[in-house]
Amino acid sequence: MKPIPFNKPFVIGRELSLIADAVSRGHLSGDGHYTKLCNRWFEEKLDCRKALLTHSCTAALEMSAILCDLQPGDEVILPSYTFVSTANAFALRGAVAVFVDIRPDTLNIDEKLIEAAITPRTRAIVPVHYAGVPCEMDAIMDIAQRHKLLVVEDAAQALLSTYKGKALGTIGHFGCLSFHETKNIISGEGGALLINDERFFERAEIIREKGTNRSQFFRGEVDKYTWVDIGSSYLPSELVSAFLYAQLERANEITAQRCRICSAYAEQLAPLEQAGKVRLPRFDADSNGHMYYILLDSLATRTALIAHLKAQGINPVFHYVPLHSSPAGRKYGRVSGSMRVTDDLNERLLRLPLHYEMDDADVSRISAAIRDFFA
Ligand SMILES: *Cc1c(COP(=O)(O)O)cnc(C)c1O
Repeated sequence: MKPIPFNKPFVIGRELSLIADAVSRGHLSGDGHYTKLCNRWFEEKLDCRKALLTHSCTAALEMSAILCDLQPGDEVILPSYTFVSTANAFALRGAVAVFVDIRPDTLNIDEKLIEAAITPRTRAIVPVHYAGVPCEMDAIMDIAQRHKLLVVEDAAQALLSTYKGKALGTIGHFGCLSFHETKNIISGEGGALLINDERFFERAEIIREKGTNRSQFFRGEVDKYTWVDIGSSYLPSELVSAFLYAQLERANEITAQRCRICSAYAEQLAPLEQAGKVRLPRFDADSNGHMYYILLDSLATRTALIAHLKAQGINPVFHYVPLHSSPAGRKYGRVSGSMRVTDDLNERLLRLPLHYEMDDADVSRISAAIRDFFA
């Protein structure tokens, strides 16, 4: 039978012709025609103050960490159940990652545990919108305001998800998006930093341009450009931006297709949830269909189910090794309180194949194979 991969990078529209156009425009480095079109797309469609394309979400997180002006020993609060870059970007600045447990329903940081993790060294909170499902941003922004902390949303999985009508990534001081080929909208590697507080606009441009005021120079605001701050090379090439812009043109369609696949899974797997065999994710209209996972009763069941599906050419995958139990997480971070939910759920979670080119027949075949396993 035809294998069903977990993920499959796809081309939907004008990707290749826009790359050809970028080449013919004769400007291939960053901040040309297509980079500007992408920045404007985010600013308009997400209603965000300022968007800067980067070469990855990791780069956007690193820029945020510099903008937070962290000093060695400062602390940043984040979930342990996340990708490495969420913590590593801050560890690079000498900050300590303070891990807080997640909510059992959304697998997002448990906002009720954040305040207990705050110390005099705390500078920022980094909520991660797991599976594109929003964190409790009202509670998080309220805590941040009362304790004068910055909020960096890791919205890598959350493009076009919303929280109370606002796009994820536009609520905290900073939002970080990813266009890695495993995300909804892709450019191979790619990312963007959304800056929602104008105090940071100028410095963000400088950090992104290797610590120079080159952006101001090109706008004619200074008569020569020079080294003015720390920074690095965070711009994507126009080739990447052109590919990304072609996907942004079709972003609603791509999101709708992923949501359709999630709904089909939910429908087909509902009997298993009713029978108490699996737990299905909360899946509201405000999320972007980034991921479809199931929660099994134990690690043993998950291992057996993976083998059962792989034997039929279906490739599900589990997710993060919690950062608090990783070698670098132990070195550069510490836990605040119990990690009970994180330690429990990470061993039981299984992500099912989900990509743009999947059809109903694929979802039916995968769901039938899962039902068959439990029969
Ligand atoms: C994918 C992802 C990242 C990293 O994104 P890149 O663009 O690959 O750097 C960071 N955080 C989370 C939660 C992610 O899912």
